[in-house]
Amino acid sequence: MSILIENISKKFGHFQALSPLSLDISEGEMIGLLGPSGSGKTTLLRIIAGLEGADSGRIQFGDRDVTNLHVRDRRVGFVFQNYALFRHMTVADNVAFGLEVLPRKERPSRAEIQKRVQHLLEMVQLEHLANRFPSQLSGGQKQRIALARALATQPEVLLLDEPFGALDAKVRKELRRWLRGLHDELGFTSVFVTHDQEEALELSDRVVVMSNGNIEQIDQPGTLYASPNSRFVFDFLGNAN
Ligand code: ADP
Repeated sequence: MSILIENISKKFGHFQALSPLSLDISEGEMIGLLGPSGSGKTTLLRIIAGLEGADSGRIQFGDRDVTNLHVRDRRVGFVFQNYALFRHMTVADNVAFGLEVLPRKERPSRAEIQKRVQHLLEMVQLEHLANRFPSQLSGGQKQRIALARALATQPEVLLLDEPFGALDAKVRKELRRWLRGLHDELGFTSVFVTHDQEEALELSDRVVVMSNGNIEQIDQPGTLYASPNSRFVFDFLGNAN
């Protein structure tokens, strides 16, 4: 599913969090939004998801204009910063959540929900933890459950806010490879937020560098190291942080 972002802007009070910005994302692409804290990455991600409304502009998924659609109707998978799992629910119930809250005519039967949860837990290789609670899981396991939950409604667009932010370096590296594999295998279009340059370069097809609510530069990691512009990205991030 391609994503078209056209002249999107956002103010919080008098503060211009996003200047009008545009970005064209191809079907199957993985985009890393990179930039210092406060540069507008999460705001842009939330606007793509429909969790936040824009002040101007237009968002299109494929040939469908979703600008005025509620988050529920955009059908995106969203992985929140720090996982945001429901502490009082088991792992299986967390994964089932997105299906349970679907309007009745779209909600699968109980048996179908169970089957799908089982399948998702197998996919993230955590089926043995179905009856545990989030507090009993490691950080990496919580992250994988958050991803399984995001995928429950079979979205074509996957949005992730600092997906590996809270994990240690070794787990981050493992999960990165795994996420990229899943993205390629399932054919998602993905956008993730990070302030980790290495992560952005390793995971994404294109890195969108943001600064003060603007898109500062777009780079393709394959060419980034060799590109005459690459110094700019590194200098920029070095100065900004
Ligand atoms: P990033 O993800 O790059 O760290 P954000 O998109 O979270 O940046 O925030 C961009 C700017 O907008 C920040 O200065 C932040 O304080 C401000 N901001 C974000 N959300 C809100 C909000 N709900 N109300 C007021 N200001 C906000």
